[in-house]
Amino acid sequence: MVRELVVIGYGMVGHHLVSTLRARDDGDTWRVTVLGEEPCHAYDRVGLSEYLRGRDASRLALGDGFVTDPMVRTRTGTAAVAVDRSARTVTTASGETLGYDALVLATGSRPVVPPVEGMDLPGCFTYRTIEDLERIHAAARAGARSGVVVGGGLLGLEAANALRVLGMRTHVVEVAEHLMPVQVDSGGGGLLNRLVGELGVRVHCGDAVRTVDGHERVSAVSLRDGTVVGTDMVVLAAGIRPRGELATAAGLEVDDGGGVLVDDHCRTGDRRVWAVGECASVEGRRYGLLAPGRAMAELVVDQLLRRPFVAFTGADTATKLKLLGVDVASFGDSHAESDGAVELARDTGDTYAKLVLDSEAERVLGGVFVGDTAPYGRLRALLGRELPSSPEHLLR
Ligand SMILES: Cc1cc2nc3c(=O)[nH]c(=O)nc-3n(C[C@H](O)[C@H](O)[C@H](O)COP(=O)(O)OP(=O)(O)OC[C@H]3O[C@@H](n4cnc5c(N)ncnc54)[C@H](O)[C@@H]3O)c2cc1C
Repeated sequence: MVRELVVIGYGMVGHHLVSTLRARDDGDTWRVTVLGEEPCHAYDRVGLSEYLRGRDASRLALGDGFVTDPMVRTRTGTAAVAVDRSARTVTTASGETLGYDALVLATGSRPVVPPVEGMDLPGCFTYRTIEDLERIHAAARAGARSGVVVGGGLLGLEAANALRVLGMRTHVVEVAEHLMPVQVDSGGGGLLNRLVGELGVRVHCGDAVRTVDGHERVSAVSLRDGTVVGTDMVVLAAGIRPRGELATAAGLEVDDGGGVLVDDHCRTGDRRVWAVGECASVEGRRYGLLAPGRAMAELVVDQLLRRPFVAFTGADTATKLKLLGVDVASFGDSHAESDGAVELARDTGDTYAKLVLDSEAERVLGGVFVGDTAPYGRLRALLGRELPSSPEHLLR
């Protein structure tokens, strides 16, 4: 008998779940309806900034929306507004009711909008969807020449680069003392601030936006330290909040931050309902990255198909990228938070490398690299392993 699966959220993880299911469900045992509130089929959000080069959404598309697959129905521009777990139905914004045998929440996150006066003025943008980038692009085309990015993490630096590509004078405001505070320690952070500043981006660390100013639209941003930065736009990249509201309304448990609480099988308290991707809080931990979301999706597919599976045990959050032209990488315990962790750093002024070792200085626990990430691959491969040579030698 064919069973009905409803997936709420047609983002990267929802898409991965449906395509994995279709690849593995040899007997066509599940018919899938995937509901996506965005107007388009799933796209590569990780590559979103590419949209500004050419603005061709088809280059970001993930597949063809399963148009030729009779077992999948994709419903774009269709938000789910309620889940009735006792009737096993999902209601859409247009009032349609869909029955399910299994339900997967893959609703992702939404950008955090800090409660700051003026944040609702025209000229303030979030940085999450193709539509957001279309709005930013339209503002640039209409004459915006400068922008303030709120948030100096990975997303903030990516947004700052996008504004530079659009030819704008760019500022980044970050509440921590240095950029990328999650991945990079203070030693590497100082160098990162300097290198990004040398690329023409004005960095305001250890500061925050007090108000966004302007009459009919944004004209300036006032910082807590009293600085007033004249600007034509504000781009928010100050964190994300999981979209757990449907789960809450359906009586499912969510964590303090709104993430849908699931066990290490990605299952909620209801055995027919799973949550995957950025909306999920797996045993209390949330992941704002794609790879863990994909792993969760595959795990759920294997359970739906009653195939052998391995519980979710966490994910590698190692990062290596070139942000604004600056090489940055980190892995493992980059902030040396493990008991008795020993830090070994090498700072040449233009490059920074740090290894974090266990208290016996025998095993690698993590590392940070700024300016030159050449040693990253070699050292990351040693994570948790015994050192083959003296640690000082490894950093050269
Ligand atoms: C610019 C940018 C760059 C990034 N770069 C990286 C990177 O380099 N590496 C990395 O690992 N990660 C990166 N990420 C994060 C990565 O994109 C996310 O972790 C990933 O997309 C999460 O996928 P998801 O499906 O859980 O959520 P989403 O991609 O947010 O998809 C959720 C979808 O569900 C829809 N939805 C929500 N509620 C409903 C509802 N009630 N009804 C119907 N639809 C609904 C939403 O509209 C959305 O389309 C980046 C993110 C951005 C924005």
